[in-house]
Amino acid sequence: MKVSNIDFQAEYKILKVELDKAYEKVMESGRYILGTEVSDFQKEFANFCESRYCVGVGNGLDALQLGLRALGVGNGDEVIVPSNTYIASWIAISLTGATPVPVEPDENTYNINPELIERSITKKTKAVMPVHLYGQPADMTPIRELAEKYNIRIIDDAAQAHGAKYKGKKIGTLADITAFSFYPTKNLGAIGDGGCITTNDPELAKMVETLRNYGESEKYKNDIIGFNSRLDELQAAFLRVKLRHLAEINKRKAEIASRYLSEISNDSLSLPYVPEYVSPVWHQFVIKSKYRDELKKYLFYNGVNTLIHYPIPPHLQRAYGYANLNPDDLILAAKLAKDVLSLPISWTMNDEQIQYVINVINKKLPT
Ligand SMILES: *Cc1c(COP(=O)(O)O)cnc(C)c1O
Repeated sequence: MKVSNIDFQAEYKILKVELDKAYEKVMESGRYILGTEVSDFQKEFANFCESRYCVGVGNGLDALQLGLRALGVGNGDEVIVPSNTYIASWIAISLTGATPVPVEPDENTYNINPELIERSITKKTKAVMPVHLYGQPADMTPIRELAEKYNIRIIDDAAQAHGAKYKGKKIGTLADITAFSFYPTKNLGAIGDGGCITTNDPELAKMVETLRNYGESEKYKNDIIGFNSRLDELQAAFLRVKLRHLAEINKRKAEIASRYLSEISNDSLSLPYVPEYVSPVWHQFVIKSKYRDELKKYLFYNGVNTLIHYPIPPHLQRAYGYANLNPDDLILAAKLAKDVLSLPISWTMNDEQIQYVINVINKKLPT
């Protein structure tokens, strides 16, 4: 048996009729930039997130960068970011001219540890960027309290958390701005690149709308030096199809996760911890093992493809060598990079494949 991490061809087979129809509709409309597919998708995704506004942009990195810029983040500012995240969170901050200030994760949830944030706040801190890693919301209440106390803004990196809930509230409404990615592997994935921000603040929405389109407030009236980062009309049409299936996609992934959580029993590894106040969307199902590399090989030889999210934390990447961050301050992120392993959890997996992964992993593992 073979179990791949994600199977785009299987996804296309299931959604082919709807996706092909969406493609034809855009082709026949002759409208390829910022047409009704983008505006309709924005309404529908805002609605899904229970947020007032959604603005589609070119990708998740731009959603973060333009979101930060809309919040006024720029040269000389500092933004607090998890040490344990995909490097895009950091790069978005750097692209605005601000400095990412990393904070270590909670050892159980792998998300930013709110208790460690306050000591990293300085006069230059303009914003904090919680990342809802693997689809599990970060602990937002203490972060909001700190943001209010120190008058700093919150921008969520929700690239992995479409549909996740924190204390009953949808991700997409808990921050000043929330950034989403529609990279094909995400729970809501385009057939290429895409991203968006959601917000309840009309001025922030307007600002991202201006920034994504050359800084134009009206046609040929440029108020600021902006970007070209518009959500593609064709991608918006595909995303509208996928959005109609997102609830069932998230439900299927949750079913797989719940089987893994109750049926995987092996002392040599630890399973994800889910605090009672979150409902995650299981972008990834990440286990931890001291013998991660051997385990990965063993699973591979048995037909189970796994991934590592992520093998090198941002502070140990050459790109951030200039920042001279002290590795002794960021040991948890470095440790997680050595121990984590993402099991297959795509919504197209069948029950036999799920059972097979559980069987293989419950055999005596390499130590
Ligand atoms: C995917 C991802 C991004 C970037 O999204 P792109 O659309 O690839 O630019 C940012 N942050 C996190 C946590 C991600 O997983």
